[in-house]
Amino acid sequence: MNLTDDLAKIVGPTNVLTGADTARFTQDWTQQYTSDPIAVVRPANTQEVSALMTYAHANDIAVVPVSGNTGLAGGTYSTGAVAISMDRMNAIREIRTDARIAVVEAGVVLSNLHDACEAEGLVFPLTLGAKGSAMIGGLLSTNAGGSNVVRYGSTRGLCLGIEVVLADGRIMDLMTELHKDNSGYDLCDLFIGAEGTLGLITGAVVKLFPKPAAYATAMVAAPSLREALVLLNKLQIATGGLVEAFEFMPGNYVKAHLEKIEGARPPFEDHHEINIMVEVAATAPKDCMPNDDGSIPLVDQLQETLAEMLEDGSILDAVVAQNDTQRREIWKRREDAAEVQLDGRPAVHTDIALPTDHVPLFFERMAQVTAEYDPGADDTCVAHLGDGNIHYSVFPTNPDAAFKDGYMERIEDLVKSLGGSFSAEHGIGLSKKPSMARRKDPVAIDVMRAIKSALDPKNILNPGKVLPDQA
Ligand SMILES: Cc1cc2nc3c(=O)[nH]c(=O)nc-3n(C[C@H](O)[C@H](O)[C@H](O)COP(=O)(O)OP(=O)(O)OC[C@H]3O[C@@H](n4cnc5c(N)ncnc54)[C@H](O)[C@@H]3O)c2cc1C
Repeated sequence: MNLTDDLAKIVGPTNVLTGADTARFTQDWTQQYTSDPIAVVRPANTQEVSALMTYAHANDIAVVPVSGNTGLAGGTYSTGAVAISMDRMNAIREIRTDARIAVVEAGVVLSNLHDACEAEGLVFPLTLGAKGSAMIGGLLSTNAGGSNVVRYGSTRGLCLGIEVVLADGRIMDLMTELHKDNSGYDLCDLFIGAEGTLGLITGAVVKLFPKPAAYATAMVAAPSLREALVLLNKLQIATGGLVEAFEFMPGNYVKAHLEKIEGARPPFEDHHEINIMVEVAATAPKDCMPNDDGSIPLVDQLQETLAEMLEDGSILDAVVAQNDTQRREIWKRREDAAEVQLDGRPAVHTDIALPTDHVPLFFERMAQVTAEYDPGADDTCVAHLGDGNIHYSVFPTNPDAAFKDGYMERIEDLVKSLGGSFSAEHGIGLSKKPSMARRKDPVAIDVMRAIKSALDPKNILNPGKVLPDQA
């Protein structure tokens, strides 16, 4: 067998990349993992993916699916494997406005789907900093979260159906457009969040929502995280649950953003420790139709709530965006997070989930952990506070791997004691495998192994990812 010739027969010679031509697929976004794939293949459609998997299965070739390659957990590391890029499968097959669904291929870039929906007066509400590169296949495979989970849920909740190519090349059609379909096990949910270890997602049916006619966006400084959560609940009551994003940036994040991002401006005149980005969005005319003076009722509502809280001292400052440019500036501060946080220093990065009311406790107790373990360590974070997901990073004084792992274990202990999870939205990939081995219920891991070996008995689908190594 000549592998590249055989692959070329399936996808065409120009769509089999080797050597230097694979460069854009070899480095992950975090620059932590550099891959040396046997080849990168770029199928045009599901039939070609199926033929590739039939071939890989017959010849025991490991395969790694790659979509936008923006994953933060090393899931696309592909040394010794054939990487299958979804980038040519980028058709938005259909947007059905009445049914509020889109039928898409796995390689559709998130921001392209946003643009196509907007043209129809609809939104696909999943949004995150990597939206210009991340693709539907990768977003589904990591069950991505992002900034609007507080209102719309994670990717899993936004998906009705998927099409999957199995390890042996069979195509499984789960492209239902139904909101209810209790016909046996929920196989769709099994493949969502499986990070390419169970099958290749080639298409999806996703839910759409009416495009908000008004947004009200603000930066708010709060005296404490507890008061910030009071603000969230007050706003949910005042607006009838219209909060779309509720994001926390501590003072040192804002400072680092100003230092690292060209053109960045401070959110307030004074420095604050608890900086919240809040956005509410509405579709109803009563919230969106301008008043006689040109003001928007939704914006008035936000301003009123903030004014009351400023008055009674439960917030310290607030700046409400007055136009789309100001709104974009507020969002950009948050969306620059990966560049601000992953700054090359030896670090322990986390992606933890907590019950929202335990988030303040996490930070209080984390300060004690650091005081005991590494008093000189620096830390920062950015958090989807509205859903309790914290990207907490600590920069230890000792860069040694074992010392960093000790830090991680202490963070995991604390998270567990507060009823949280070590993995919220980025997936396990390679980087969270040690945490998976330590923290996931062993019975759950046994069940996952059984599913993996039933669906991929030759272990050719993204081998070595997600599941802990066996002794
Ligand atoms: C700046 C920045 C901001 C981010 N913000 C967020 C955030 O707020 N919330 C969040 O959840 N994530 C965030 N991420 C992480 C990342 O964007 C998400 O994990 C995203 O879902 C990855 O999509 P992708 O297309 O890049 O997937 P990739 O990185 O290409 O792949 C991710 C995983 O899915 C597998 N995979 C890819 N395509 C398929 C397929 N078709 N079938 C089966 N398996 C497949 C891969 O093998 C890999 O294991 C951020 C990343 C960056 C760089």
